[in-house]
Amino acid sequence: MRVIYLLGRGRSGSTIVGKVLGAPDGWFSAGEVRTLWDPVLVQDSPCACGEPVSRCPVWSRVLARLEDLDRGRVARWQHEVLGESRLPRLLKGGSWPALERYREAMARVYAAITEVTGCETIVDTSKRPSYAMVVRGMPGVDPYFVHLVRDPRASAYSWRARRYTGAAGAPVRTRGALDATLRWDLLNLGSETVLHRAGTDRGMRLRYEDFAAAPRAAVDAVAALAGTPPTGSAFLDDRTVQVPASHAIAGNPSGRAAGRVTVRPDGEWRASQRPLDRWLASAAALPFLRRYGYPLRSADR
Ligand SMILES: [Zn+2]
Repeated sequence: MRVIYLLGRGRSGSTIVGKVLGAPDGWFSAGEVRTLWDPVLVQDSPCACGEPVSRCPVWSRVLARLEDLDRGRVARWQHEVLGESRLPRLLKGGSWPALERYREAMARVYAAITEVTGCETIVDTSKRPSYAMVVRGMPGVDPYFVHLVRDPRASAYSWRARRYTGAAGAPVRTRGALDATLRWDLLNLGSETVLHRAGTDRGMRLRYEDFAAAPRAAVDAVAALAGTPPTGSAFLDDRTVQVPASHAIAGNPSGRAAGRVTVRPDGEWRASQRPLDRWLASAAALPFLRRYGYPLRSADR
């Protein structure tokens, strides 16, 4: 089975990108799979279909195939392996017993998703570089990495202004522009390292703004990376996609509607962001702006 892993910072548009990538036949958008054992199963959080994950028609059948796994133990491995202090060791390709056990458990999760959905291509919007390194080297999994980058000013605006209840059942914390952008720097740097390790035949960068301007071309580029046939059939025109009922876990709840989805460029932050926040985000992300093709003065576009 093939896993298309979206890398990058939260609030980079991964929910809508994952949803559109999950639209073609044979592709399944699973959401942020790294959150499955904790907090999704601990809280019995709602799947995107609206049911608690234990009663979701897809995830309940996936979980039935994993009943022999001790949920508490897998959650402990998850915390041990994905803790921030472990990231350098993971990025170096290190291995230790909890990592190997966790990797085997997660390989069974993807295998169960494939059995239940019949889809051999699973889109995972987990984003964290640490979990990407778990997926890389997972037995039976053919991984491809898509580094999703969004303008740091847009990301900072979303972290400050958008409020919703996360998979843990509590409101996702808001962050100031400087705090949000320093995390943006760190996670994009980690994502770059994963891409470098994966090599050009297994990784690509996708700017959210390019996806929003031409979603069909972006999906075709991801399909080409993964070596799968063109997936344009889910598109009704260049920016309208017929999406199935979503069973993604975690992620942004605004991405739950099924049916026709029209992808549009997001301009709200340009009109509504405080000038100080824009300046802070531009300054904190300065080394990356040119690298990712973003102008220093965001109004210049
Ligand atoms: Zn569901």
